[in-house]
Amino acid sequence: MIKISDRLNAMEESATLAMSRISRELKAQGKDIISLSLGEPDFNTPQFIKDAALVAMDKNFTTYSPVPGYDDLRESISAKFLRDNNLNYPKENIVVSTGAKQSIANVVLSLINPGDEVIIPAPYWVSYIEIVKMAEGVPVVIEASLENDFKITPEQFSNAITPKTKLFIFSTPCNPTGSVYSKSELQGLAMVLKANPSVVAMSDEIYEHINFLGKHESLAQFNDIMNQVVTVNGVSKAWAMTGWRLGYIGAPKIIADACNKIQGQFTSGTCSITQKATISAMNADPSILKEMVEAFHSRRDLVISKLKEMPGVICNIPEGAFYVFPDISFFIGKQYKEYKINSAQDLCMFLLAEGQIALVSGEGFGSPNCIRISYAASEETLSEAMRRMKDALSKLTV
Ligand code: PMP
Ligand code: GLU
Repeated sequence: MIKISDRLNAMEESATLAMSRISRELKAQGKDIISLSLGEPDFNTPQFIKDAALVAMDKNFTTYSPVPGYDDLRESISAKFLRDNNLNYPKENIVVSTGAKQSIANVVLSLINPGDEVIIPAPYWVSYIEIVKMAEGVPVVIEASLENDFKITPEQFSNAITPKTKLFIFSTPCNPTGSVYSKSELQGLAMVLKANPSVVAMSDEIYEHINFLGKHESLAQFNDIMNQVVTVNGVSKAWAMTGWRLGYIGAPKIIADACNKIQGQFTSGTCSITQKATISAMNADPSILKEMVEAFHSRRDLVISKLKEMPGVICNIPEGAFYVFPDISFFIGKQYKEYKINSAQDLCMFLLAEGQIALVSGEGFGSPNCIRISYAASEETLSEAMRRMKDALSKLTV
């Protein structure tokens, strides 16, 4: 009899991927489901990136690459860090991986011994906790409240640190809340790191370009703590390249070397063609993303204005990424026909069955009073989705 490992049994299926799987299955059965579950841009990869991939294939870049990525790619990432983030990461401090998801897993596996504590502010992106559990680390969750725009304070961070703390993981702009940390807020966190030099911070900045405040701020910009910070980024979001699978880190050399070692045993370098194509994205002027960012901005406004028309739904105004994360606790305890809402998950299943819209429940993000709406869809689709949601919610009574 085959038995799956305890380590794997303790791991949850990714809540985001689970909901997108369910909605894909329902669509395949002919159901008219609107899926706002997956964090995936609905734009196409820009043509110049596709062209660069064709050239790479023609030139036979189709073999194994160096494990941390081709030199010319890592040089272009180094230049991008300097140009966009004012961060000085030489090529040797950069490791390219099979998506930012692998970058994050590499860093966690590089640093965490069983029992080490990893501080993660909730709401968090679903995979952080599960990757930490896989490494037998202990997630220490700090709650970021809706009233504080889902951001933690330096005091909360400082109070959570113990002699066992090894790592702190957060994202800005944040998935799932869309919150964006300002420079002074990051400086507050940096001061806590400075006082705790054995703590490493992993700053997941994969949504850096989808920021409605204008300028993205990186945690690693503060010189005194740069050698404690790993900056995670990738091409999935800004360049609409989710399927190409490329993420990267800028990190202290000792961590970059460790990640290189891990991936040499797990995956080797990521797809050679993707790597060559990514050079063109790294070299491109990010101002060409303006149109996409404006589209996301106006979709955010649309979704927020529709949510405001739904009694009982409370939300902050997200300043980045492409998610809203409303509090729906008002509906817990309510019912309609055979549906009794005891949790955010129940509400999502009700909205799927009764409203035919797929959203992701907050439990997987560490916030059981919330649900996540991804607005990476056309305004027409979003308007229809919001109409369905309003209709379905209005059926719930005590
Ligand atoms: N970090 C965050 C916050 C994300 O939302 C995602 C989802 N794409 C990732 C990392 C992983 O991205 P990828 O593996 O596609 O590069
Ligand atoms: N990061 C995206 C999301 O949160 C894609 C799904 C995933 O990788 O988990 O929906």
